[in-house]
Amino acid sequence: MDFRYYMPVKTFFGRDCVKKNSAEFKNFGSRALIVTGKHSAEKNGSLADVASALNTAGIPFTHFNRIEPNPTVENVREVSEAARGCGADFIIGIGGGSPLDAAKAAAILAANDITDDDLFNLNFKNMPLKIAAIPTTAGTGSEVTPYSILSYKKISNKRSVASDTLFPAVALLDPHYTVTLSREVTINTAVDALSHAVEGYLAARATDVIKPFAIESITLLGEALPVLVNAEADYETREKLLYASMLAGIVIAHTGTTAVHAMGYPLTYHKNIDHGRANALVMCSYLKFIAPSQKRVSHILAAMKLDSIDKLGALIDALLGEKETISDDEIELFTETAIQGKNIANTIPQPDRAALKNIFIDSFRRG
Ligand code: NAP
Ligand code: FE
Repeated sequence: MDFRYYMPVKTFFGRDCVKKNSAEFKNFGSRALIVTGKHSAEKNGSLADVASALNTAGIPFTHFNRIEPNPTVENVREVSEAARGCGADFIIGIGGGSPLDAAKAAAILAANDITDDDLFNLNFKNMPLKIAAIPTTAGTGSEVTPYSILSYKKISNKRSVASDTLFPAVALLDPHYTVTLSREVTINTAVDALSHAVEGYLAARATDVIKPFAIESITLLGEALPVLVNAEADYETREKLLYASMLAGIVIAHTGTTAVHAMGYPLTYHKNIDHGRANALVMCSYLKFIAPSQKRVSHILAAMKLDSIDKLGALIDALLGEKETISDDEIELFTETAIQGKNIANTIPQPDRAALKNIFIDSFRRG
């Protein structure tokens, strides 16, 4: 056996965990910047809970609420300016992966005067500001990962900043915050979690210590996803999804992602397809590509109590509804983009251009 396990995030999970652990913020610093999307943090109660926890701890704060889905580097620079402007010494990200990732990258930029390329290449000297992460979607697992994924105009794609300094110091996961999610976002984020657990389990970088996290996450998602096909998620299902998403985040924190994410990024960047949905669209064709040489695919199906990739495909199709169309030119461009992804090398067997192109074609085939 040969592995590295590192998970430095102090993690609280459960109903009202922000209120119950408001003392956590006392040790954090003297001024906070809260980073959210436009509306959801007000709607789901998370912002009010954090504001009241900071008030109790006697910590002043400023609120930045202009994070867009799939945040750009420019959007993140607005956050770091806000952090400097108000003299924040820590950042609290509340929301889906977009505000959490924006908070993380901004934590680096607030402490370092660097170019965009320096950010992605980790050319910085000062430690990022401390980060607290409060997820309100159940999908990205960003609260327990060392990644910030940003839209980067220079390469016309999404690109990750990956650094152990980006692990949040604290994560607070309250399933109640996810109750306000629409059916669409619930599904599109749940399949992102599935994608993380599946890709992590199959990755070249999968380790013995991390595989049980992946299988547990896949098992829970195998129970929860069929519920989402026909019914509104109840609290128990929301709790399961958030826990499975966190486990899957712990998985990719160690394994990274694979060809599925490399193929999903251009679909999101160019066609504005939600991140998790983009992954789910290509996942089954990817599994068909690797199944002949990886028996681990059968472990995934067994954990989901499914007896074939086609059954998984039927479940995903039922969740996603009608698929987008993709043109021949788009297939060429997205193949060219995906093959350059760092995570292609983490895929066993490693797909070449022709294989990626076939996966795109197969994924969007109708009927
Ligand atoms: P998101 O872009 O953060 O949010 C999607 C939508 O959901 C937004 O409109 C948001 O509204 C809304 N929303 C969030 N929480 C809600 C709630 N509780 N109730 C109602 N609406 C809510 O979506 P996401 O899928 O969670 O994050 C995607 C991003 O994460 C992508 O950029 C992806 O690349 C990244 N990602 C990061 C990692 C990592 O390890 N760091 C892993 C996977 C994916 P508001 O705008 O009003 O908040
Ligand atoms: Fe993801």
